[in-house]
Amino acid sequence: MKEETKIVTAGRSAKWTKGVVNPPVTRASTVVFETVDEMNNAVANRFNETMVYGRRGTTTSFAFSDAMTTLEGGAGCALYPSGTAAITNAILAFVESGDHILMVDTAYEPTRDYCDKILAKMGVTTTYYDPLIGADIERLIKPNTRVVFLESPGSITMEVQDVPAISKVARQHDCIVMLDNTWGAGINFKPFDFGVDISIQAATKYIVGHSDVMLGTATASEKYWPQLRDNSYLMGQCTSPDDLYLALRGVRTLGVRLKQHQENALKVAKWLEQRPEVETILHPAFESCPGHEFFNRDFNGSNGLFSFVLNRGDKKTIKPFLDGLSHFKMGYSWGGFESLILGITNVASLRTSTQWQAKHPLIRVHIGLENADDLIEDLEKAFDRLNNAIDS
Ligand SMILES: *Cc1c(COP(=O)(O)O)cnc(C)c1O
Repeated sequence: MKEETKIVTAGRSAKWTKGVVNPPVTRASTVVFETVDEMNNAVANRFNETMVYGRRGTTTSFAFSDAMTTLEGGAGCALYPSGTAAITNAILAFVESGDHILMVDTAYEPTRDYCDKILAKMGVTTTYYDPLIGADIERLIKPNTRVVFLESPGSITMEVQDVPAISKVARQHDCIVMLDNTWGAGINFKPFDFGVDISIQAATKYIVGHSDVMLGTATASEKYWPQLRDNSYLMGQCTSPDDLYLALRGVRTLGVRLKQHQENALKVAKWLEQRPEVETILHPAFESCPGHEFFNRDFNGSNGLFSFVLNRGDKKTIKPFLDGLSHFKMGYSWGGFESLILGITNVASLRTSTQWQAKHPLIRVHIGLENADDLIEDLEKAFDRLNNAIDS
């Protein structure tokens, strides 16, 4: 089946839709049974998409898990109330006191904080590694290394990792390979084809796609699915069927949205590349992006999220650049239909094993589904304000 067809059909088996197009919202804490046999039968099939109790899921969550497993690959998908909960619980499911994990230096900031503030307290140590390390990761693997965690590309500085090279070495040492695949969104990067064992997404971003639901997913290979599923259950992780309904609705347009985000973002990025105020474009499809060759080799496409580094300005003078934009709003997210922008001046402090050398601010944009020409005009005026602020 081709990708577009998968997107339309994923999670829509008759078992869940029961004669309508979309799997309905099944709201339940209590599931009731008429006979002892029915109840025993449900309990015996509790790992097999059978309703037993609300926390174990209802037909809506089963449909969404099926859809995510269809898109990402793997054997099953555990659901969490946020992307962060998916990351922390997936790691927690596989580590114990005395273990060591390898975490990419460009990890999402809360992921890093979790390692430093929660895992450390539990006696699990973390070594941060250069996202571009490739097969050299071998020299950082210790006898007690349990998890190698990747995020590709990094969500601020956009380094693309050599996922198959890292996975190969990690697996040779019996480490579990986890990837934050939020940027790939289950469409543009297929983690299980590249040796990943557990693929995690902030479904909050492109899956939901409309900036109105928090949701996380962790999809595991056959080998690790039972342990991930059991830990998710033991930790009491469950998600609202209303949110899952919206996420399923988001899935249906994921392919066309991503294509348009990609087209718009490439247009804006190409325009930015010509601007005299821009030092470098950090977009995986651009040669200037570290790991661009792995993007070309492993990805099916890009999306709306990228960054660029200015060759002038500072914390103070980017204020007028950012204030007064009409189409871009400032917000700590991405993946919705709307454009967003962030001025990031503390990049160097977000990493410990690699250096960030840029002297001027980094701007991260999420290019939405507006007309790219309107966005370019908005940015053009912003550059005028920046230049005025610096030159006056
Ligand atoms: C937003 C984000 C997360 C966290 O998702 P939440 O749903 O906000 O908790 C994790 N990883 C990446 C790359 C993200 O951008």
